Amino acid sequence: MKLTYESVIGLEIHAELQTNSKMFCSCSADYSNAPEPNMFICPVCTGLPGAMPVLNKKAIEQAILVGLSLNCSINEFNTFARKNYFYPDLPKGYQISQYDLPIASKGFLDILDDTDSPQRVVVRRVHLEEDTAKLAHEKNYALVDFNRAGVPLLEIVSEPDMRGVEAALSYATKIRAILRYLGVNSGDMEKGILRFEANISVRPSGSSELRTRTEIKNLNSFRALTRASAYEIERQIKVYESGNEVVQETLGWDEARGVTVSQRGKEDAHDYRYFPEPDLPPLQLERAWIDSIKAQLPELPDAKTQRFVSQFEFKEKEARFLTSEKALADFFESVLSKSKSPAKTIHSWIAGDFSRYLNDSGVDIKDVTLSTDSIAQLIDMTTDKTISGNSAKIVFGEMLKHGGDPAQIVKEKNLVQVSDTGFIQEAIEKILSDNPKEVEQFLAGKETIVQWLMGQVARATKGKADPNVAKELLVKALEERKK
Ligand code: ADP
Ligand code: MG
Ligand code: ZN
Repeated sequence: MKLTYESVIGLEIHAELQTNSKMFCSCSADYSNAPEPNMFICPVCTGLPGAMPVLNKKAIEQAILVGLSLNCSINEFNTFARKNYFYPDLPKGYQISQYDLPIASKGFLDILDDTDSPQRVVVRRVHLEEDTAKLAHEKNYALVDFNRAGVPLLEIVSEPDMRGVEAALSYATKIRAILRYLGVNSGDMEKGILRFEANISVRPSGSSELRTRTEIKNLNSFRALTRASAYEIERQIKVYESGNEVVQETLGWDEARGVTVSQRGKEDAHDYRYFPEPDLPPLQLERAWIDSIKAQLPELPDAKTQRFVSQFEFKEKEARFLTSEKALADFFESVLSKSKSPAKTIHSWIAGDFSRYLNDSGVDIKDVTLSTDSIAQLIDMTTDKTISGNSAKIVFGEMLKHGGDPAQIVKEKNLVQVSDTGFIQEAIEKILSDNPKEVEQFLAGKETIVQWLMGQVARATKGKADPNVAKELLVKALEERKK
């Protein structure tokens, strides 16, 4: 019998925090808007001898928000440590991080596993650290830009609880949504503001051993995360199948070739010679402060989904679509509050025409400027059948281009829907006599041609014909030709 395998995945997620200043100095953390390299720097973030780090309160607050959102316990007493290693992007020769006492630990996140069943992933720890500088590799040399050095970075480490690529994707997607809900990270993976590392091992299905793992560094998109993980799982299975052992190592992902590549043997904690950071006192958080941060927590995606399901009678999937982004959920609720249409109708419009627009234009929902009043008006005009769904697309397109009042656009473009059977009947007769071949096909049994003819009716009537009335009349006219 052939052995089947299951994958074991643990994720480490690095998220830059959205603070004004850096983790240990007052330099701007907004490095992507720096006019030039090495502008937002000082003795602290360039590691000059004798410079003293000072903690960023906002970063601690954001770390606590994340810890609470991931159901962690916040460690009122936590400490910073030096993680020693040499690299040109690390001017001090060590990174200030947290080691044995992180700011938050032992939380969990409920996700959907590879069979779409709910599953709980344990979050081992959430800790604060600082980002490194950025290297630009030229042909024979590299340039270093310290603007990013010292930007607050949060690391979220899961237990190896995920059993497949879909589970890992579900976990990563949910963490990203939560960070965006909290406003602590933009989730912009292309810019490296959020990055994933996947730790992967495989074992015979049903076994509970933890086998040797590899770690894939710097995955900068969901696509890279899923492709690299899937590749690595297959690679490890092949290693075992051929009677060999997986070697613990750090891998990179070669996006172009679609393969993982060895970067170095995996270092262990002792290689970093962690020791307590002597320049920072231990952090003693006041319970009252933690409680006041807790009070600021927004309604998070899961809670919002459940509320939408019970309040609007959505299917779970429909609700989850709207709550995937806080801005989208807010947009929905705002339109709903101004509209006379049912929640389902508004959901359909957002999932249809509106999502198509967002996808095609690449506009972020956060940047949509159309007023929800006018969107509510537009949707209401289709609900009360003033205009057809097709005309609504035209009006929406016009609103996007020139703004404006939907009722006005409907009037100007003469889009008021016609249920007047005479007008529609006339158009149908003309179409049927202009297209004898298609009528022939229908009479020969090709029922699908009705759809094509409906398209012609919509065109001839400029989308103004009530589609239900038009369909009825069209079918009747065709049936008559059978006789
Ligand atoms: P460290 O990085 O300090 O060595 P660990 O090795 O315990 O810490 O874990 C780092 C990450 O690797 C965690 O996300 C953890 O869930 C994951 N991990 C640990 N062991 C395995 C394993 N056998 N298979 C897959 N992932 C693992
Ligand atoms: Mg690691
Ligand atoms: Zn600085």
